[in-house]
Amino acid sequence: MENRTMMQYFEWYLPDNGLLWQRAAKQAAALKEAGVTMLWLPPAYKGSAGSGSVGYDVYDMYDLGEFDQKGSVRTKYGTKEEYLAAVAALQKQGIAVLCDVVLNHRMGADGTEEVAVEEEMANDRNRDIGAEQTILAWTKFDFPGRGGAYSAFRWNASHFSGTDWDERGRRGGIFRFAGKTWNRETDSENGNYDYLMGADLDTDHPDVVRETEAWGRWYLDTVRPDGLRLDAVKHIGFDFYRHWMEEMRAYKTKGKDGDFFIVGEYWSDDIEKLTHYLDAADHALALFDVPLHFKFCRAATSNGGFDMRTLFDGTLTGADPAHAVTFVDNHDTQPGQALQSFIPAWFKPIAYAVLLLRDAGTPCVFYGDYYGIAHDGVAPVPKLGALLRVRRDYAYGEEHLYFDDPSLVGFTREGDQEHADSGAAVLLSDSDGGEKRMYLGKAHAGDCMVDIMGHRMERVVIDEQGWGTFFTNGGAVSVWVRENAAGKMFTDGVC
Ligand code: CA
Repeated sequence: MENRTMMQYFEWYLPDNGLLWQRAAKQAAALKEAGVTMLWLPPAYKGSAGSGSVGYDVYDMYDLGEFDQKGSVRTKYGTKEEYLAAVAALQKQGIAVLCDVVLNHRMGADGTEEVAVEEEMANDRNRDIGAEQTILAWTKFDFPGRGGAYSAFRWNASHFSGTDWDERGRRGGIFRFAGKTWNRETDSENGNYDYLMGADLDTDHPDVVRETEAWGRWYLDTVRPDGLRLDAVKHIGFDFYRHWMEEMRAYKTKGKDGDFFIVGEYWSDDIEKLTHYLDAADHALALFDVPLHFKFCRAATSNGGFDMRTLFDGTLTGADPAHAVTFVDNHDTQPGQALQSFIPAWFKPIAYAVLLLRDAGTPCVFYGDYYGIAHDGVAPVPKLGALLRVRRDYAYGEEHLYFDDPSLVGFTREGDQEHADSGAAVLLSDSDGGEKRMYLGKAHAGDCMVDIMGHRMERVVIDEQGWGTFFTNGGAVSVWVRENAAGKMFTDGVC
């Protein structure tokens, strides 16, 4: 059994050059070699900002860069043909492709409608402001540029439950459409967080349920993804996706057993909310471990004062590792973005070592960490390729945790028979360096271990009982692997 490793194959500020799909296709073999087994691609459909759209301002989900809409045929990432070619090239390498699904809202409508609304308090969407009024809302989606291809469905105000702009008064606000209620089972922030942005889908409307399922079947037939990433799940009635996922899985696997990996984005630091959502969704998906991201963030910004023993307390990796997708940063946390909480550079190798080499959770490597972020002059995370190689080849077998000190913590992997020269010892500190005795396994008696991160030059010899005394420096992580493994990594050029 090989370790699963996901990569998020985009960051917010990629150039608007229409070349990402071509890049993914061309890099497929290199990504496979790097140890990537799953690739999460950005939303592939036309957004309201046309070729400048990152993809979350959804306009037309049937336009994968095929129709002249919103000022261009292609999306930011390329054309439909290039998209399908990239998916095929990745799959040919055995990389599972995860596609981004954004169903909460629509933007960039083709026309307006008169709609009776109740205006709500921004920070308490259960409280109306004043009397019912009529606004001019951008809710008509006719897709004239597509001309009915693939689907004749047209959206109008009856399919939405609210919006945030009155075109007549030219003013913003949270407007709930009269006769509609916010979906009760959503996140409780702001009283009720059904409404996020744009024209909010009324997922209780039978036409909306039918249309989102019809689109899903068309998308599965057209793109043939191996899994999905669901956007903004906390803003959509919790029962909606449970049902939708059931339908999509059944359609995809045709009733046979099959792996169709789904990960949802529930942006909350509150572990109770994440486990509640997993329960509500019958554990039919995994969630990104947002609390772990914030733990990394606090550990990296506490000037060595963070209690490293508590790193996994209150995280999804701690509570339900089988349903946790771990990450260090993403397109929302990178510099300049709404949820900016970018992990400082010194801590990144530490966070990635924990993410990639522990047994718990499915790690997701961020494009901006792997390739850097040119827009903000952010360099790639040093040694990330080496850590990925250790994950691919050596981080196997039983795990022993040594989260027993406020700053100096570590863990070992014993290795297994299946992977030659496997086994690893990881020691990290958010403060002073030091040493720790850790158990690697009796099978390793006499083994020489070296630090592939290059912080420590000594060799550690494992004793007859399978123990070794490992070292690391202050504010650093050392990853100790067998000498043979380190030599192979050296000749392969990954460290
Ligand atoms: Ca919603």
